[in-house]
Amino acid sequence: MTQAAPVTDEALREEVRAWLADNWKGLPRSGGGAGWTASPEQKAWLAKVVEARWAVPRWPAAWLGRGLSDAQARIIEREFAAAGAPGAGQDRTNLWANTLLACGTEALKQKLVLPLLRQEVGMCLLYSEPGAGSDLAGIRTRAERVGDHFVVNGQKVWTSGAATADYGMLIARTDWDVPKHKGISFFFLPMKQPGVEVRPLRQITDESHFNEVFITDAIVPAENLLRDLGDGWSVLQTALAYERSVMGESARGGRSGAAESKTEEPLIALAREAGALGDPLLRQDLAQAIAYKRLNALNTARAKADLAQGSSSPVMSLGKLAMSRILHEEARVRTAILGAASLLEGPDHPRSEDANFLALNAYFTSIGGGTDQIQRNIIGERVLGLPREPEVDRDIPFREVRSGR
Ligand SMILES: Cc1cc2nc3c(=O)[nH]c(=O)nc-3n(C[C@H](O)[C@H](O)[C@H](O)COP(=O)(O)OP(=O)(O)OC[C@H]3O[C@@H](n4cnc5c(N)ncnc54)[C@H](O)[C@@H]3O)c2cc1C
Repeated sequence: MTQAAPVTDEALREEVRAWLADNWKGLPRSGGGAGWTASPEQKAWLAKVVEARWAVPRWPAAWLGRGLSDAQARIIEREFAAAGAPGAGQDRTNLWANTLLACGTEALKQKLVLPLLRQEVGMCLLYSEPGAGSDLAGIRTRAERVGDHFVVNGQKVWTSGAATADYGMLIARTDWDVPKHKGISFFFLPMKQPGVEVRPLRQITDESHFNEVFITDAIVPAENLLRDLGDGWSVLQTALAYERSVMGESARGGRSGAAESKTEEPLIALAREAGALGDPLLRQDLAQAIAYKRLNALNTARAKADLAQGSSSPVMSLGKLAMSRILHEEARVRTAILGAASLLEGPDHPRSEDANFLALNAYFTSIGGGTDQIQRNIIGERVLGLPREPEVDRDIPFREVRSGR
């Protein structure tokens, strides 16, 4: 089925509103937390959203989209958000599906794009290693071609969602005789096989959101290679760009799942509830925290407008770093609003539980997906045009790179 793009914003708004009114009946509450797997009800809803072509409206009609502009796709996302319905805007947020569509073989796209949009398959990112986090090009996990598949050996770490994932987006070294960025390839590694052992790591928030992954003679079919052999660095840049732009816009909610005000800025609502809204010093903090958030949203909108007009925007690079600072600042203000009560924990104190959780969880955004320091390097070098950081091992064969391990 193909569907022509609606002519006007108003017609589009009416169409999506009418569709939601007919179809959206809500979903059972799943509570707070990371939620790596979708419930059967969520999957059924997502399948409906995909079929109606609301999930990826910026994508072409041949790939379940409507070929809409960013501005019109945003109309759909706003209507879904207003109704509290998930599933729209995956052409912005679903980094697995976007990376696959941009870089995968036709066979792999046919096999996995639809299940990814319906969240029928779980995914994880097999990038970081014990000796290669910020310097991802230093990875030592290897993949060697044997007939029509590759054999993978190595160790990954900090792998979010690995315990439930069906596939991992894997970077592995396939050529040791070229400089480090050139010998890397990018695969969709099947996770549910004997050669992949997942060991949970315990985090400061008491969750085990990420894991160590030990890979021993695991098999990945050759058709699960994205782009060409040795061209994995370019695929990784595509995937990281999606990840950073998503992390630059969104933040995780509290652990308690306690509903936050939809009609009022959450920090103001919290201050009102705590009877602290009259405190002049706190009001300054509130103003500052909310101003940072609004400014980031405006900057992101400006960057998107630049992109829509065909020019890349340096402002885009600032979003993830900004979001990291915003989350730390919001956590500080949240704690200040609650005062001593912020030390309380547990279901009887949902606001305090959220304050604690969000303060600890703020580190997620300032480390995961690239640390704040690395974002500053990127902004310094690529946006401000400052001299590049010296990299002594950039141009020598990886086999000759000295390792401390
Ligand atoms: C919640 C969370 C989820 C994650 N999920 C995943 C995942 O799903 N998959 C995955 O592969 N990884 C994941 N990671 C790993 C994450 O991407 C890495 O932790 C991150 O890239 C930093 O690498 P590192 O831990 O090896 O630190 P290092 O690279 O060892 O850095 C240590 C410190 O030195 C600084 N530093 C290093 N090099 C430079 C430099 N050149 N200039 C300035 N400062 C520098 C860093 O900024 C940091 O402060 C996750 C991490 C977190 C916290």
